[in-house]
Amino acid sequence: METLFIIKPDAVGKGVAALITKRIQEKGFRIIDSKTLKLSEQEAGEFYSIHKGKPFYDELVDFMTSGEIVVLRLEREDAVRYLREVVGATNPSNANPGTIRKDFGTSVCTNAVHASDSDENAKREIAFFFKK
Ligand code: UDP
Ligand code: MG
Repeated sequence: METLFIIKPDAVGKGVAALITKRIQEKGFRIIDSKTLKLSEQEAGEFYSIHKGKPFYDELVDFMTSGEIVVLRLEREDAVRYLREVVGATNPSNANPGTIRKDFGTSVCTNAVHASDSDENAKREIAFFFKK
């Protein structure tokens, strides 16, 4: 089973992308593919189209286009559910100790990483970045 993981511009900018990647590998995820890139406003809007119209949408698109991101295609048993557990709650203040967002996130927007929330969305998100 596969899922999509993104190290967001706040974490890349702080230089903790390698540290976060190592943690993911220690949790048993295998990296199938990866790339570093900067999203355009249009690409970020398309990736987060499910959130269009929500109050945080514009801030989210601004943030996600503010710097480079690292995108990882990951494989593991129970990948989608387990990665969400390792990542922690959307708001780092509510995230469990030991989760990536607790340790590296700084606000509900700048929360360090993205993880697909369902098998269906994982497929869509992997195709968005990796399938041509
Ligand atoms: N977000 C935000 N404010 C909110 C909720 C979400 O800025 O009140 C941002 C945050 O970066 C989050 C992303 O929008 O990771 C997508 O939101 P979602 O509810 O899908 O959270 P996630 O699945 O990333 O935990
Ligand atoms: Mg989500």
